[in-house]
Amino acid sequence: MSGSATPALKPPIVILGSGQAGTGVAREFRKYDADTRLVMITRDDGANYYKPDISEAYAAGKTPDDLVKKDADTMAAELDLEIRSHEQVEAIDPEAKRVLLSGDTLEYNRLVLAVGAEPIRLNLSGDAVDAVHKINNLTDYRNFRRDLHPEARVAILGSGLIGSEFANDLVTAGHSVSVADPVDWPLAQFLPETAGRAVRQALEQAGVDYFFGRAATGVHFGDDETINVGLDDDTVIHADIVLSAVGLNGANRLASAAGLEVDRGVVVDRTLATSDPHIYALGDCADVAGHWRPYVAPLMQCARTLGKTLAAGDEEAAAQVRYPALPIIIKTHLCPVVVYPPVTRPGEWQINEANGADVEAEFRDEDGRCVGFALTGEATKKRREYLKNVPPIMA
Ligand SMILES: Cc1cc2nc3c(=O)[nH]c(=O)nc-3n(C[C@H](O)[C@H](O)[C@H](O)COP(=O)(O)OP(=O)(O)OC[C@H]3O[C@@H](n4cnc5c(N)ncnc54)[C@H](O)[C@@H]3O)c2cc1C
Repeated sequence: MSGSATPALKPPIVILGSGQAGTGVAREFRKYDADTRLVMITRDDGANYYKPDISEAYAAGKTPDDLVKKDADTMAAELDLEIRSHEQVEAIDPEAKRVLLSGDTLEYNRLVLAVGAEPIRLNLSGDAVDAVHKINNLTDYRNFRRDLHPEARVAILGSGLIGSEFANDLVTAGHSVSVADPVDWPLAQFLPETAGRAVRQALEQAGVDYFFGRAATGVHFGDDETINVGLDDDTVIHADIVLSAVGLNGANRLASAAGLEVDRGVVVDRTLATSDPHIYALGDCADVAGHWRPYVAPLMQCARTLGKTLAAGDEEAAAQVRYPALPIIIKTHLCPVVVYPPVTRPGEWQINEANGADVEAEFRDEDGRCVGFALTGEATKKRREYLKNVPPIMA
């Protein structure tokens, strides 16, 4: 009798990472496909939280636990997902279509990289280097809050989005806050000087002590567990806790070791496919057709597109991601900021209005077209008006 053999089970779609990108694509996929096996691997606990909440939690009286929206089991049940938490993917074998975990391997049909970005570490000297905090996930934030005693003087290295938001949150909650940065005004990568000065003034009035034009060089323990932060002009900031917020890089190690093309992040085309057609990437780890945008709104666009593509299972007809004009909202509540970084350069900033904390600025390209804007204070209420006049990031 020629008995019919049981067909081999097709390997699952495997998603690496349980952040906004990983859960976002799982949620979108399930809108179209209720049956295909989905496995999510994450080195954290797999709980669902909204990462931007972290930098405004303290002044709002929230603990790290208050930020958890759903635990891993609830997420797994809701999305019919197998979540393998506290598991680190060590390598990807694209030829064999499998991922290597410590002591195990898992085959995939399609693989989605949603592994986020890595905080840049400054090359600091001194015996307190290991005591310097960075915050890029809830575990980091738990560690920071554990070490932040109520009277702690906080030194923040970096006045970009993350550094400025934490400066705002911590000073609002009553901490003494110092910020050091080699640039000349806060949020310098986003804002022209006039707008940056508006933010600076609002945070200074609340008590933030800025050390601009100076880079941190070393961190040394002093008396009573004080940490002395040395700057390159020999200034020393005396702090009880130090937070480094000097930027991110796409987490490229796994991808480049697997032979995938990487740049600021894993290089993907507008279908979110990497240089291997069975592997996709989105979120902070992905460089999407030349755009590395480590923010929530772009990754949600990608999650929608990729969810559809994975469910259709037809790479030839894969959907292409679009990035409309997606502004960045910076949660410096003492002087709120909405910015749409210029989509093309060169060009120059033009200040339309500047009245105390309220600044309106447009970035005009060489043909005089408005291709970006920055609004602070009350002027942030005009963002819809400004959005009408700018081109999309990727049409
Ligand atoms: C304090 C803070 C405030 C922010 N505020 C804003 C804001 O106001 N607006 C905004 O748009 N953006 C903001 N951002 C950025 C935004 O939060 C990120 O763009 C977004 O959360 C990135 O999601 P992701 O899923 O790509 O990465 P992540 O959330 O970093 O997730 C990466 C996942 O990959 C897993 N992982 C990594 N490597 C491995 C491995 N080898 N094996 C297994 N698992 C692995 C991790 O465990 C994690 O689950 C903020 C970021 C921070 C840190």
